[in-house]
Amino acid sequence: MSATQVTPICIAGTWRPGSGAAYDSLYPATGEPVATLRAASLDDVDEAVTRADQAFRTSGWARLKAHERAAVLWRIASTIRERSEELARRQTLDNGKPIQETRALVQSAAGTFQFFAAACETLEGTLTPARGEYMTMSVHEPMGVVAAITPWNSPIASEAQKLAPALAAGNAVVIKPAEVTPLLALELARICDECGVPQGIVSVLAGAGSVIGDALVRHPLVRRVSFTGGTTTGRQIAHIAADKMMPVSLELGGKSPTIVLDDADLEHAVAGVLYGIFSSSGESCIAGSRLFVARSVREAFVELLLRRAATLRVGDPLDPRTQMGPLITARHRESVARYVELGLSEGGRLLAGGRSPDDAALARGYYFLPTVIDGLVNSDRMCQEEIFGPVLAVMDFDDERELLERANTSSYALAAGIWSRDYKRAWALGRALQAGTVWINTYKQLSVSTPFGGFKDSGLGREKGRLGILEYMQQKSLYWGLNEAPLPWAN
Ligand code: NAD
Repeated sequence: MSATQVTPICIAGTWRPGSGAAYDSLYPATGEPVATLRAASLDDVDEAVTRADQAFRTSGWARLKAHERAAVLWRIASTIRERSEELARRQTLDNGKPIQETRALVQSAAGTFQFFAAACETLEGTLTPARGEYMTMSVHEPMGVVAAITPWNSPIASEAQKLAPALAAGNAVVIKPAEVTPLLALELARICDECGVPQGIVSVLAGAGSVIGDALVRHPLVRRVSFTGGTTTGRQIAHIAADKMMPVSLELGGKSPTIVLDDADLEHAVAGVLYGIFSSSGESCIAGSRLFVARSVREAFVELLLRRAATLRVGDPLDPRTQMGPLITARHRESVARYVELGLSEGGRLLAGGRSPDDAALARGYYFLPTVIDGLVNSDRMCQEEIFGPVLAVMDFDDERELLERANTSSYALAAGIWSRDYKRAWALGRALQAGTVWINTYKQLSVSTPFGGFKDSGLGREKGRLGILEYMQQKSLYWGLNEAPLPWAN
């Protein structure tokens, strides 16, 4: 692996190094550089946004017929599919996720472009019932320059989730990927170029969020922000958006409960709980990090869970058999380890993991073993704060009403899981849980055709779904006078 050349970034359709500081993007499995970049500077931000606004007004992209814009999105979807293996590999090098997961993320990105091509082509305005001597119509129009700010955990999927609907709607988009994972957003911009998106409509600015991201959100020509990331950052962005009177969507953190009722299929539930917390090494906003198990099945369930957790394959992310790769950075691994210490100091008991693997072959990577802790109560900090790592807190319950109260006692409300054979109990719980998504007898399944987002500190707004394109459009009403006579008041 070598990163001697500077990887250009995409500023207003031109490919060149940013004019900010140089930095390396590292492979989390070894700590070696994958690419050297120069971050965007504040001038680069201004240039990208100003040119995006110009391209939005003059390139014809916003005025293309819907089916013509959809055709470009279709080409993007096909190109992603043609290059899927190369893109998956690049993403694994960029953020350390196992190749089997990055392959799925690449397919998901292609599916997202295809889906929003269809949404674009089939979107209709409406003729609303007239209440006077006029015809009334509601239409949707693009907004202008959209800023798309993404985190490091699932780059190509998060970026496609914003880029595809924003482009389908006819906007220009400036993407600010996470500083440590810039490579897939750059690949997407290249593909957009090749597939006929006009120059300047897409830019990708690498660099620190507190500098580049902040400047982008504040830029007067940015008319909408779509943000995925932490709650603290999301709240700062919401304040700026309020001052600018700018719509914003915020996909933020989570501390999701998974509930195993006493009538659950335990084998099925264990597989779901393991996948829910340990896939992506727990670096997932929807990770099922708080487990509530019915006391009557707790012993059997936890025994099975620990047996299966011990067999998870932690290792080389490029090996297709690997289930858990490294964490994103050394610093993040330290933060996860500190949370484990905190949990133990709060009275938790370590049942598995809690440290890096012993395997010398993994010593250079930022690995952390699947970790299970019990003995905590829901109000403990380890059960309330997002760890964003492979750490599961196990709690039990007797009474469903009290369980619901505990499961809902969280500042977050992004996702939840229920395991039960009784569909009536599961339905009642599913409706009462505070979460933007509830999975019943499955977990962490996501579909572009189903809206996604959180309540409470987990965010505002929804992404995906056929009407997700409208999140990137502004509604306009038109009244067409049909009366031959002038308006009576003026006579
Ligand atoms: P983060 O908030 O630190 O960063 C997210 C993005 O925002 C990055 O691109 C970063 O550079 C940028 N940023 C940072 N400060 C900024 C500022 N002041 N102004 C503008 N942009 C700024 O989050 P992270 O550590 O990259 O990602 C982890 C977080 O993302 C977790 O909390 C996780 O739950 C959340 N997340 C949520 C979802 C969801 O859909 N709800 C999905 C994935 C991740």
